[in-house]
Amino acid sequence: MSEQHEAPAAFETRAIHVGQAPDPTTGAVIPPLYLTSTYAQDGVAKLRAGYDYSRSGNPTRDALQAAIASLEGAGRAFSFASGLAAEDALLRSVLRPGDRVLLGNDAYGGTYRLLSTVYRNWGIELVTADLTDPEALASVIADRVPALIWVETPTNPLLTIVDISAVAHAAHAAGALLVVDNTFATPYLQRPLDWGADAVVHSTTKYFGGHSDVVGGAVAVNDPELADALAFQQNSAGAVSAPFDAWLTLRGLKTLALRMERHSANAARIATELERHSQISQVLYPGLESHPGHELAARQMRAFGGMLSVRLAGGPKAARALAEGTHLFTLAESLGGVESLIEYPYAMTHASAQGSSLEVPDDLVRISVGIEDVEDQLLDLTSALSALEG
Ligand SMILES: *Cc1c(COP(=O)(O)O)cnc(C)c1O
Repeated sequence: MSEQHEAPAAFETRAIHVGQAPDPTTGAVIPPLYLTSTYAQDGVAKLRAGYDYSRSGNPTRDALQAAIASLEGAGRAFSFASGLAAEDALLRSVLRPGDRVLLGNDAYGGTYRLLSTVYRNWGIELVTADLTDPEALASVIADRVPALIWVETPTNPLLTIVDISAVAHAAHAAGALLVVDNTFATPYLQRPLDWGADAVVHSTTKYFGGHSDVVGGAVAVNDPELADALAFQQNSAGAVSAPFDAWLTLRGLKTLALRMERHSANAARIATELERHSQISQVLYPGLESHPGHELAARQMRAFGGMLSVRLAGGPKAARALAEGTHLFTLAESLGGVESLIEYPYAMTHASAQGSSLEVPDDLVRISVGIEDVEDQLLDLTSALSALEG
C-alpha cells in the first residue's frame, strides 16, 4: 500500500496493509520472516537498509510496529517480548526514583505486582484508587501529584469502565502522564490516544495475536520525546519481540476487526442469557444495561468486547466448580484467542493480588468468549451451571 493511501484507509484495510507491502525482491505478498541476528554491511558502518543488529532493528518487527502505530492512531509503536516487558520499558522511560504512580484499584495482577514489588525496590511509590470516582482521583492528585496515572478499561477481571477523557484532563491539569492498558478493548473497539491518553500499552498475547500461540507486548505513543525514550529503552534493555513472534502477531492483526466483531456479538448474547440464570448473582459485561459503565462504554467503545465475568450465587465453591465444569471453555489463564477460555481469577490470574487493595471477589469466574458458534458456547456454560444444582 503506497503512502498516499495510508491516511484515509479504514481500520480493516490498514490492519492488512500498513507495514506489509509485498516484498520488493520477490513480490511475496506476505512480508518475509527475517530470522537473522545481524546484517551484512556495505562498508564499515555503511548499513544497506538501516539495519545492523536485530536487537536494535529487524524488518519483521518494524512491520508489526508500523501496523500497531497505525491502528492506535499513534506516531510510533514498539513491540516487546511480552506485555509486561512493554509495561516495564514504558515505566523506565517515564519514571525516576521517588516518583509516584497511581494505578486503578482494579487492574491486571501482573501490572500491580510489577509496580508493587519490582518498582518499589527502585524507589517508586504506588498508590491505588477507584478511577471511576473523580473525587478519589482528585484526592490522590491533591495529596501528591503522580508522575503517571495507569488506567485499564475495561478492567481485568471486573470489566469496570473508566472515563479516559476525564482522567486525561485531570492528569494533564496536574502535569501527570496518562497510560491506558488497551488489551481488553483493542484499537478496533477503543482508541485511547484519541481520548487524550499519552501512551497505550498492550499485551499482544491476547486479541492482537488472537490464536493463543504467541506472547508479546506493545507500547504506542504520539509524543516524539517519549517515543525516543522508548526506542532507547527497547534497544538498551533489549526485551524485544523475536522476529517469529512479531510475524505471528502481524498475522493475527489482519483479522482483528472480524474477530472483535464476533467476540463482541457472542459475549453480548452470553451475557444476556446468563443474567437470567438462577445460579448467577451478577454478570459483569459493559454491554448490559445493568452495568454501571454501560453508557460511558457505549460512547468510548465501538462495541463491548469478548470478556465477561460472572459472580456465582453459590459462592466460591460454585465458582470453582463452574470453572472446572465446562468442556468447550478450556480452564486456562490468558484470554483473547479464537477459542473460549474460563478461569477463576482469585486463585489464578489475580492470585498475586490476594490481600491487597486489588483482591478480586472469590465468587468470580472470568470468561474469554471465543469465536466458536454461540449456541455451542451457551450449551456448554448452561450444562456446567446445571451440574452445580446437583
Ligand atoms: C495479560 C495482560 C498483561 C500482561 O501481558 P503479558 O503478555 O502476559 O506479559 C497486561 N495487561 C492486561 C490487561 C493483560 O490481560
